[in-house]
Amino acid sequence: MKITDVEVIQFRTTTRGHPTKWGYGVWGDEVESIGSITKISTDEGINGHMLGGDKATMEGVIKPLILGENPLHREQIWHWMDQMSTFSHRPSEGEMGIADCALWDLLGNKAGVPVYQLLGGARDKVRAYASTFPNLGGPEVYAEHAKACKAKGYKAYKVHAYICWNPHTEEPAPQLPGFPKEDVEVCKAVRDAVGDDMVLMLDPFGVYTLDEAIWVGRELEKLDYYWLEHPMIETRVEAYRRLTREVDIAICSPEHVPGGVFSRAEWILQGASDMMRIDIFYGGITGCWKLINLCQAYGIQCELHGTGAPHVHLACAAPEATCRYYERGLLRPGVDYEQPSPELKTITDPIDSEGNVIVSQKPGLGIEYDWDYIEANRIDT
Ligand SMILES: [Mg+2]
Repeated sequence: MKITDVEVIQFRTTTRGHPTKWGYGVWGDEVESIGSITKISTDEGINGHMLGGDKATMEGVIKPLILGENPLHREQIWHWMDQMSTFSHRPSEGEMGIADCALWDLLGNKAGVPVYQLLGGARDKVRAYASTFPNLGGPEVYAEHAKACKAKGYKAYKVHAYICWNPHTEEPAPQLPGFPKEDVEVCKAVRDAVGDDMVLMLDPFGVYTLDEAIWVGRELEKLDYYWLEHPMIETRVEAYRRLTREVDIAICSPEHVPGGVFSRAEWILQGASDMMRIDIFYGGITGCWKLINLCQAYGIQCELHGTGAPHVHLACAAPEATCRYYERGLLRPGVDYEQPSPELKTITDPIDSEGNVIVSQKPGLGIEYDWDYIEANRIDT
């Protein structure tokens, strides 16, 4: 089997996420945007797809690297991409991750087996937490939203409070200084609203100093929160070591550290956090799976960051003791998460009434693309 083409299909779609000058997005009116799908083709007519992909990188860097290669030698291709990414940043870890996901989809399509079973197959569903958009409003808005999520069956809820946003002026703001007191007020209101039996987490997205993170961690312990995620900028490893030593609540990081499984292996040795965190934009399914198994060997959790089919498959390939939750969202009042985006026929993370996300039993990643929509809105370049 040989790879005959790597292509990025681009199409018109819409978004309501708007970047600010601080580099962080805010919610707004629907505007047109460009979506993309990476497609890897073979001489056997079996293809692999993954949502996303930068055309210049995929077709200019990854295609020349893997054209003519056997797509079933993912491990070899992964190491080639990782070496190039490390010294030249081309491809980025994110682009490398998307290509790796498309190769897993390709393998699944050839074998007629879903990716989670190719990896191992531990379960067919994973408990979800409702993960909020940041900057929803005052504590009462979060409290009502958390109650609504609980009524839908969610057993866990994660607060993104005030991120790159000043809750007093209600305007975008730099990442630091954050608003730890205001964040804790949101967390208190949510705990009061949902009662004692809902699992709660806070993700402040790196907006605190070490002192603030220690203070927030101790406040969250009083409120029986399950984890404090990514509380400080994650290049400060020693600050994370001190924080993890200082508080009892589990610290879940690093989410945005380059180096994928390799830098996270160092965090484990350093005791810089209690639970690991990674996503496919740091090395794809192959990189995430290496970290999940490393975490299993050390008896710690690896909680996957963000949504999408690859993360459902990775979580369902691992036992609950290693990957406890799937992050579902981001959710906000008045927006129907159950509606697929126009390029998809179905959402990739359907949920049952008990708050569990169900993994697809279709071959590969099981993403159901709406090719009629994509072709009708395709951008020829
Ligand atoms: Mg996060």
